[in-house]
Amino acid sequence: MDESEEARVLAITKDYGELHQAILQLLLQVKSIDSHKLTRFVGDAVADIVIDEKTIKRRQESGNDDRNVAETERNENKTDDDVEEQNEQRQNSRENRQLRIQVRKRLDDIEVLNTMGVLNRRLTPLNLCIERMIDENSTDDVESSTDEAAYIYTLINRKSTKVLQISTSFSEKEMKVISFLLDLTFGDSTGDEDTSSRREHYSIARYDTLNNIRSGFGYSMVEAEQLMTRLVLDGWFELFDTSYSLTPRSLLELKDYLKERYPSVSTCLACGQILVRGLECKVADCPVRFHSKCYQFYKVAHQNDVSCPGKDCTGSLEDVVDFS
Ligand SMILES: [Zn+2]
Ligand SMILES: [Zn+2]
Repeated sequence: MDESEEARVLAITKDYGELHQAILQLLLQVKSIDSHKLTRFVGDAVADIVIDEKTIKRRQESGNDDRNVAETERNENKTDDDVEEQNEQRQNSRENRQLRIQVRKRLDDIEVLNTMGVLNRRLTPLNLCIERMIDENSTDDVESSTDEAAYIYTLINRKSTKVLQISTSFSEKEMKVISFLLDLTFGDSTGDEDTSSRREHYSIARYDTLNNIRSGFGYSMVEAEQLMTRLVLDGWFELFDTSYSLTPRSLLELKDYLKERYPSVSTCLACGQILVRGLECKVADCPVRFHSKCYQFYKVAHQNDVSCPGKDCTGSLEDVVDFS
């Protein structure tokens, strides 16, 4: 890539118009996507725009050349032209491949984050926004050996916080089941008035879930299983070990709803998002919880003060335990 081409890539990544549309179209289709895939998508979209421009320019140039060549001469050299054209095509596709690699290298998470910021400013009047949340599942991946955290980006409808936004694809009866599952996951299990006492688990055992749906809503075991499978396939719940919990996407999408309905729901001290798995302070009654990745970042940023950030907590930032 020469200097003028690099400048053009930069100009496009600053201007964004087509890129915005591409990202929006993508998010509208897939609803949520992890940051690695999104970075790759953005990179390819930028490269496509540059390649399109190059192709148009090349066509214009070769069009001018053709007019300068006499028709008879063209016919005589037809085979030579074909070979030349093939070589040129090969050369072009090699250049395009290299361009894609270079654009991908150039884009990092910050660039993507900036794009989201610009997009969000444009989305606000439509009551839409793109939110990101750390992907706690990615800590099990090979990629977690690097310091890079994976995020989930989700397009969220901010219009109706009181209505469950999944309702369009489920029947009224199914919505009652979902509402019941949310109560099981986040509600006060003891049934006593004190909602400030924290729950130890934000997941529900698979067998109990199916059994509850069967006995409480008149489903057969097979039907209960089918409904849960649908909720998993649609990306609302995930099966982790032998328990169901909400996916990062659901937590983002239902954040306002969940916080309003279950005021004592845990949030990550570092990123402020609801969390269902992660680390918690060992001290009883201390509400401090983190995503595992957020905890690592937080510790690095607070090297000089290892006391737990919990109000009235005498514990240490080092004394955390897993919860799920
Ligand atoms: Zn967090
Ligand atoms: Zn604490």
